[in-house]
Amino acid sequence: MNSDKSSFIPPAAIGFVGLGNMGYPMARRLAEAGYVLTVFDLASETVTQFCQETGATAADSLEALGIAADIVITMLPEGKAVRKVLLGEGDNVVAGLKDGAVLIDMSSCSPVDTRVLSKEMLELGFPIIDAPVSGGKYKAADGQLAIMAGGEKDLVESCSPVFEVMGKVFHTGGPASGHAMKAMNNFLSAGTLALASEAMITGSKFGLDPQVMVDIINASTGRSNSTEDKFPKFILPRTFNSGFYLGLMAKDLRFAVDLAASENTPNNFINLLSSTYDKAEEALGFDSDNTELFKYLESLAEED
Ligand code: NAD
Repeated sequence: MNSDKSSFIPPAAIGFVGLGNMGYPMARRLAEAGYVLTVFDLASETVTQFCQETGATAADSLEALGIAADIVITMLPEGKAVRKVLLGEGDNVVAGLKDGAVLIDMSSCSPVDTRVLSKEMLELGFPIIDAPVSGGKYKAADGQLAIMAGGEKDLVESCSPVFEVMGKVFHTGGPASGHAMKAMNNFLSAGTLALASEAMITGSKFGLDPQVMVDIINASTGRSNSTEDKFPKFILPRTFNSGFYLGLMAKDLRFAVDLAASENTPNNFINLLSSTYDKAEEALGFDSDNTELFKYLESLAEED
């Protein structure tokens, strides 16, 4: 196992898979910091654009990306895609990996599944750190993400030069603990959005001014990231462009449901919230913005 911090400073070679809303700005920061990047995404136009912008190399295959990399980072929608990229039939990353290579999965995945995957990967000789992030695409671009890293402590520390380019890293404990932490954070994040939306819709229908409501909530005890950030930036102006798909949030809530079920812990609010987001996804589509939950809840208000 490689736990030598000096192995992972620039110009170490990073293979980056998944250049979406989050992966693109995260990988761009790594390239700008001097890491040598080889990248892969199903969207070939995005790969071309990224390589033109940063000088990164487009991998011909996942195996080629594995061969080129000291560290492989995945930033994919969820765990099924991560498993396919790392171990899938035919072309995969693991086929190319050299001894001492480290895997970092920064996607938000089911902690229950990650427990299984991390064990399998360790048996193959490749430790995997689950290191999901919070902060969205704007904080990704500014290198201000909160990174929740689960895995062997020395290994997480050895990767800190890489993490520090993207944000602030917290060691959460053993394998899968980062994904568990992320599922619980997004339960709270989705929860405050749903609660604040109902409060705003109800107050507005009664006649309160929405902007006045947000200003008062943010000076009062009802405030949250949703009222301080999402309402002023994406909901009141009705731009709904936070860059985080509603379908991805609904997926994170299903992970929270699974986690509560696996731990036999109280799940009333988790279950209710998850089914609400599932219905919103069904009504508005996977790739509507997560802040459009507000629109979905508005649509439930009865006409007078
Ligand atoms: P996204 O849908 O914008 O990007 C995913 C990328 O992965 C796409 O470019 C897609 O083409 C690529 N991809 C999918 N399957 C692939 C495969 N098999 N091989 C190669 N490429 C593949 O999603 P995102 O918003 O960037 O989110 C990525 C992860 O980060 C998700 O787990 C999400 O829950 C999490 N996350 C997102 C945000 C946000 O604000 N967008 C914030 C924190 C965490």
